[in-house]
Amino acid sequence: MTTDEAAEAVRSSPLVIIPVGALEQHGGGMAMSTDTVRAVGVAELVTARLAGQAVLAPAVPYGVSPHHMAFAGTMTLSPATFQQVLRDLVDSLYQHGWRQFLVITGHGGNNAALSVLAQEYLRSDLLFAWTPITAVVSDLITDVSQVHGHAGEAETAQMLYLAPELVQAERLEPGATTLDELTTPARLSRQAQGPRLSVGFDEYHKRGVLGDPRRATAEQGRLLVETAADRIAAFAAELLTA
Ligand SMILES: [Zn+2]
Repeated sequence: MTTDEAAEAVRSSPLVIIPVGALEQHGGGMAMSTDTVRAVGVAELVTARLAGQAVLAPAVPYGVSPHHMAFAGTMTLSPATFQQVLRDLVDSLYQHGWRQFLVITGHGGNNAALSVLAQEYLRSDLLFAWTPITAVVSDLITDVSQVHGHAGEAETAQMLYLAPELVQAERLEPGATTLDELTTPARLSRQAQGPRLSVGFDEYHKRGVLGDPRRATAEQGRLLVETAADRIAAFAAELLTA
């Protein structure tokens, strides 16, 4: 966009969508940019569904990834830095007149920082919403390993649909797939309720993968990505009426 187009978009497209991702290991077969690529892919579909009412900002390609630092190439922001980057970007667009923001994160490690940011914006005159991707379609994730998640079935499926050129199929390999395989700290960290423990992904598995990415298909990915876009767009459409 040019600055003139942006000035017009303030009036015609009151919602800004900001994709945020991560630059972190995704096992032996997927690019480290996986979470950013998925965030951008879903954000583009959501923006298209909103038919001109939303404008798509460039992605923030780094996220909060200290739990992947045992793996070469991972680049992380501290939670405080990640929050400050988003504060500065939102503040920039606020000064130009935007008041509604939706952050789409492809990386679950950003969730806690985004949740804190959302609490801070309660005291402002802007609407700050954020959403994960896979978690909004968790009801559609079936027939997967007992332990699944990072670089596993669902995430690999999304990449096979959105960016198959970034998946090296012959290098996909299973990570931890059952609770029995996990160390005690890793097992405790998987509890959905009760006390919380965080562990590095090298504690889960030597390749840092949860689940079996070899079972993923592009067709599963299409279902997850398109449905996530439908649900997030429906939320955004309601937000626009606020
Ligand atoms: Zn990921």
